Amino acid sequence: MSSSTVSNDSSLPRILVLGGGSVGLYSARRLRRRLGKKAHITVVDALPYMTYLPFLPEVGAGAIGGRDVVAPFLRALKGINLVQAKVTNIDHAAQKVTVAPEVGEDFDIEYDELVVGLGSIARTLPIPGLAEEAIGFKAVEEALYLRNQILDRIFIASNTKDEALRARLLTFTFIGGGFAGIEAVGEAEDMAKAAVRKVPSLSESDLRFVVIEGADRILPELPLEMAQYGLANLRRRGIEVHLSTFLSSCIEGKVVTSTGVEFESDTIVWTAGVRANPVIGESDLPTDQLGRLTAAATLQVVNEDGEVVPHAWGAGDCAAVPDLHNPGKFCPPNAQHAIREAKVLADNVVATLAGRQVREYKHKNLGTVASLGLHKGVAMLFGFIKLKGWLAWMAHRSYHVMAMPTPSRKIRIIFGWMSATFLRRELAPLGATADPRASFRAASAPAKPKEEKKAEKAD
Ligand SMILES: Cc1cc2nc3c(=O)[nH]c(=O)nc-3n(C[C@H](O)[C@H](O)[C@H](O)COP(=O)(O)OP(=O)(O)OC[C@H]3O[C@@H](n4cnc5c(N)ncnc54)[C@H](O)[C@@H]3O)c2cc1C
Repeated sequence: MSSSTVSNDSSLPRILVLGGGSVGLYSARRLRRRLGKKAHITVVDALPYMTYLPFLPEVGAGAIGGRDVVAPFLRALKGINLVQAKVTNIDHAAQKVTVAPEVGEDFDIEYDELVVGLGSIARTLPIPGLAEEAIGFKAVEEALYLRNQILDRIFIASNTKDEALRARLLTFTFIGGGFAGIEAVGEAEDMAKAAVRKVPSLSESDLRFVVIEGADRILPELPLEMAQYGLANLRRRGIEVHLSTFLSSCIEGKVVTSTGVEFESDTIVWTAGVRANPVIGESDLPTDQLGRLTAAATLQVVNEDGEVVPHAWGAGDCAAVPDLHNPGKFCPPNAQHAIREAKVLADNVVATLAGRQVREYKHKNLGTVASLGLHKGVAMLFGFIKLKGWLAWMAHRSYHVMAMPTPSRKIRIIFGWMSATFLRRELAPLGATADPRASFRAASAPAKPKEEKKAEKAD
């Protein structure tokens, strides 16, 4: 995939942006706006679209559609060279990056300035059964899967009289009580309740939602008092939250916790933290002990002595950027910082190319907003405004729709919310989309003799 309108002038600087997420998309757009056709800008991403991750819990609950929370690069990055491929190696000494396209041979891309915005991946642990049974929650595909999985389980459970099986089908387990986990469980439980109300053979009490959190509290990004409000809200709704508890194993869906709790669950969602993209740790760029790029507040990559590594820039989840408002700390991995860092980073690349001074990134946290489901939320704004319930939920939606890239996506999301309000939530399970060829395969398979079919059924 490529959409290039820049000149072929080889004297122009080549700026290579790795990742087209919050950092990559916003920095590339700003570079294009500021530099016009005075640079070759290339964005490499494994996917053809940017996903606005804070909306995944709403996608997981069918409150908005999956397509509405992704911004296709062909529209959002007009005038920028696009390479859809996986970055496999960064050789900064040679100023080249190796990429692996979906088809064909790997190839190298040379650059003059490198912007690294490769984000993070799920931080997992070697827990027996986890890799086989659980799903992460960092991609729109995973959120769509969760929606279909929950609705599918509900409709499958409605047809069984086997109580143990039904309990297993209707038990949904979320590992991790941070933002992603709490928002995901809060939204998903709302959707599940709305669905079982339509199923005569089931009732809300058949549903079991479980959160397993290692710390002694949830939502560490919020002050304790607000997090406790969130916890009380979830518990009031019947969501089990096990604090100071770790997942010990989940072999074949049998969940065992460090506190000895055991139950069967057909759906296990892992939201217990992230770590920097491992491509960075494997490169020759300097990293800290957590595998993050070491960066200065100017978003320039720096070595362990704090000296600038020329031509390398980094921001977002994959970089340790000093938080100048909290000396000694680093900016937390969130979209609020990533989007703002991207803009300063782009300005600093432009300044460097023009031989001007760079400036430091300094952003005072605007606040933290979390949805706990439809019309429910908790928020702390500007460090002193505490919001609970509907107001917090509105603050959450308003903040994120403003942060969503491109006006058309904002409009789509608002329309999505309006249609869900007036026409009710869409509850059709579309789990078959995970294997859309299944029915065609069955139709194309040679017909089996009746006896063989009977024998198979008996088995
Ligand atoms: C469920 C969930 C809810 C969240 N809620 C909030 C919230 O409410 N508020 C908030 O501020 N933050 C929230 N966050 C965090 C926020 O979304 C991230 O901090 C932010 O997206 C980080 O931006 P980034 O550009 O560093 O990474 P990303 O936005 O993740 O972008 C990384 C990009 O790199 C690409 N990529 C990765 N590896 C490769 C490779 N090898 N080759 C090529 N391309 C690659 C990816 O496809 C992606 O496009 C949430 C995150 C999740 C998962």
